[in-house]
Amino acid sequence: MDTKLAAAIDAKRDDLIALTQDLVRMPTLNPPGRDYLLICEYLDGRLKAHGFQTELIRAHGTPGDSDKYPRWNIIARREGAHSGECVHFNSHTDVVEVGAGWSFDPFGGEVSEGKIYGRGTCDMKGGLAASIIAAEAFIETHPAYSGAIEISGTADEETGGYGGVAYLAERGYFDPKRVQHVIIPEPLNKDRICLGHRGGWWAEIETRGEIAHGAMPFLGDCAVRHMGAVLQAFEDKLFPAMASRYTEMPVVPEGARQSTMNINSIHGGEAEPEEGFTGLQAHCVPDSCRIVIDRRFLVEETLEGVRDEVTDLLEDLRKRRPDFEYEITERNSVLPSMTEKTSPIVQTVAGAIKEVMGIEPTYVASPGSYDQKHIDRIGKLKNCIAYGPGILDLAHKPDEYIGIEDMIDSAKVMGTAMVKLLLPSDK
Ligand SMILES: [Zn+2]
Repeated sequence: MDTKLAAAIDAKRDDLIALTQDLVRMPTLNPPGRDYLLICEYLDGRLKAHGFQTELIRAHGTPGDSDKYPRWNIIARREGAHSGECVHFNSHTDVVEVGAGWSFDPFGGEVSEGKIYGRGTCDMKGGLAASIIAAEAFIETHPAYSGAIEISGTADEETGGYGGVAYLAERGYFDPKRVQHVIIPEPLNKDRICLGHRGGWWAEIETRGEIAHGAMPFLGDCAVRHMGAVLQAFEDKLFPAMASRYTEMPVVPEGARQSTMNINSIHGGEAEPEEGFTGLQAHCVPDSCRIVIDRRFLVEETLEGVRDEVTDLLEDLRKRRPDFEYEITERNSVLPSMTEKTSPIVQTVAGAIKEVMGIEPTYVASPGSYDQKHIDRIGKLKNCIAYGPGILDLAHKPDEYIGIEDMIDSAKVMGTAMVKLLLPSDK
């Protein structure tokens, strides 16, 4: 790779560690969406000092936005010396709850044996820090670059991205006329390129019955038994049908290369007693039972097809089963996204991985979704991948960490990608 750039990144090792620690020490927990302004102002100061023009944007009126928990985002842009294409690095600033089982302070940013520990180190403040260091080192060594570099820090990825990338995409910030290449430094491992993700459909299904005395259930109608019939139909028909569908997407782990569905929750009849309540239950036939389903689907399937498949099973039960009544309510949906392997950003980053680490990249797709969906579906920008340091399996777990060497290597890959895209004569 470019030796000056590599040396500049190596020289910033301590800066990279300190930057990651600073970011981790801001507890941007989501929910509820804490400290977004704090982290945006921090990034604002840092990037302005390196010649970026910045904009802080609050996603007014998006889910969770309030004066107590405002959804702040930052977009920073630095124009080059000549016209050209724009390379954008997008990171989410929110982290998930801490959970139990930590042996390090989750917001301490402690360094131990070449790793930085804390909630969000891997997912994805380490990736954000690596992209900032890559950009700063690139600007330092190639000040007369063409085009533009953008870095964004966005809210709410962990809860769907509506107050973050979706909001910005709706306002044209990911218009292909403005931005041509997007790298999302999510923790997919430094030698892997993530081309996209599966889609998701979330819905609540309620079966209805009629309340009666539990000693005379024949005088009522049990909603839980109706739900039992729904679950049986899923077992008999839906799960085998989903298991038979394989995607061309390189989804990891292997099990997620099929269509899948989880039943997130089930509830029917009397409410659970409060903790410590010692009374007995009343005897009633439940008149309602609800489940929430989480259906993940493939790029080869359509959202309509996914919905119809479930609704057809329920309609079939309505015909066959006396007094079967149901209601289905959609909670949310996201469409799958996959960038072609032949697209410029994939080719560029693949070349950079080979140059920096001397290995062929592995191509993967994510079983769950991330902000690429909004850049693709709302922004209409297809030339987008996830590439960043960190081990995906550590995300959301106790003792989450990021390897310092991994951050350095992936910063070199990101820097090399900028050399390829923003110094056209070097191609
Ligand atoms: Zn993430």
